Amino acid sequence: MLHGQNLIGGQWRNSATVAQTFNPSNISEVVGEYAQASVADAEEAVACARKAQPAWARQNIQIRSDILHKAADLLFARATALATLLAREEGKTLKEAVGEVVRAAHCFQFYAAEALRHPGQWHNSLREGHNVIVSHEPVGVVTAITPWNFPIAIAAWKAAAALAYGNTVVLKPSEFAPGCAIRLGEILMGAGLSPGCFNIVMGNGALLGPTLIHGADALSFTGSTPTGRALLKIAAESMTKTQLELGGKNPFIVLDDADIDVAVAAAAQGTWGQTGQRCTGSERIIVTRGIHDAFVEKLVKAVASFTPGPALDPATVIGPVATRPQFEKNLAAIAAARAEGAELAHGGTPAEGHNEGLFLTPALFLNTTNDMQLNRHETFGPIGAVIKVADLDEAIAVANDCELALSSGIATTSLRSAERYRRESKAGMVMVNTPTAGLEYHVPFGGRPPSGVGGRETGSAAADFFTESKTSYINHGVI
Ligand code: NAD
Repeated sequence: MLHGQNLIGGQWRNSATVAQTFNPSNISEVVGEYAQASVADAEEAVACARKAQPAWARQNIQIRSDILHKAADLLFARATALATLLAREEGKTLKEAVGEVVRAAHCFQFYAAEALRHPGQWHNSLREGHNVIVSHEPVGVVTAITPWNFPIAIAAWKAAAALAYGNTVVLKPSEFAPGCAIRLGEILMGAGLSPGCFNIVMGNGALLGPTLIHGADALSFTGSTPTGRALLKIAAESMTKTQLELGGKNPFIVLDDADIDVAVAAAAQGTWGQTGQRCTGSERIIVTRGIHDAFVEKLVKAVASFTPGPALDPATVIGPVATRPQFEKNLAAIAAARAEGAELAHGGTPAEGHNEGLFLTPALFLNTTNDMQLNRHETFGPIGAVIKVADLDEAIAVANDCELALSSGIATTSLRSAERYRRESKAGMVMVNTPTAGLEYHVPFGGRPPSGVGGRETGSAAADFFTESKTSYINHGVI
């Protein structure tokens, strides 16, 4: 069992209370026991981050880069051990978990280089004898609050970017899966980061949130839309710069001219991959009527191949649902969908013979309409719904008729249809003939409001949030 402590000013600290996490593949197994930070701990973590920030911002960029690079090397070297912890605590398969840890390592590698190459601008001035320099400075202290579904990748892409641009960090990981954050803290200390540059406080978000937000210069939050909305209000009180990456209800359109096998593979992977617990997962599969029956026939076969099993079993395709509350929410969503007339074509029940864990057979609903509650709210589980439409016009209207706007996709062999959808989708990310989930670390990631607020994450785009620009006029007198 992992005994996790808070990391405050470079010291690992116990707290008066602890909370345990459980293996969703076998809920009688305790994975970790974690110190639960008090408000005073959160205050101290922010104070330590503030004290450490000026020196880190002044640090030679080669040294800053080397530390991030070393963290990447350590993540690569410990990938199997970290992925095993991740699979035990969050429930994703070992293969998915290794992929996530490698992604975290790639983020540190990428931002190690970004620390060296983040340029400013130089302009001629309209005034004689003047020029203008636009430089970028760190924001200061960044609070990062993260969810349970990518507990190391999201922590890594926030922390690596924040540190690369000269900020210091207080990380508040999800109470359901904090183990990898502890390991990330050990790795960053081992890589030579000075005390206070990276701090971890664990525990109840509602309790710690106001202190962590009001004390920081910036909040980078990933989680559910209701929590994001609440945090935006808290941040408004102190005018803390805020970036929110929130929920999705992502549409995947299949047109009559699609390559049917490409369409089925992309829809199935997007919907049930990682047990449907990805913000970019496809929850609404919108299919035009000419291909509908043939597509559905193949999709029903595909969903059956996503059999749930223990996360560490190499034969498992999808792991269990990550948490007990999420499991209950998924079952409630399935029951409500049936009650409102959606036709359950496959799954949607606790998996037989697997009573020790939170295993749910992947659900596929047919003959649904976009106004059903099933298609209005994020389920964040292994639950897909097919909506039949007449043509591309109706498909686009249905895809965009949704409050959330994170990712979207289309399967078509028509370049014209693909380009039209790429332009008309209101989502922040559009995928053509490939799943709605699965962006890479070097490109901007994020949704449009209310799925994303305050600028994109990952890639060089992260600099927009993690730095402030400064415009300077220089009167050098040379004409
Ligand atoms: P959540 O909102 O319940 O919790 C996220 C984090 O916020 C946790 O650390 C939690 O402790 C903290 N928190 C909760 N209430 C808080 C409060 N009142 N004040 C301060 N902190 C608080 O979300 P979750 O269940 O952990 O994650 C699932 C959600 O995250 C889904 O909606 C999913 O779509 C979303 N998500 C979005 C992205 C993205 O990049 N857009 C990525 C992954 C997950």
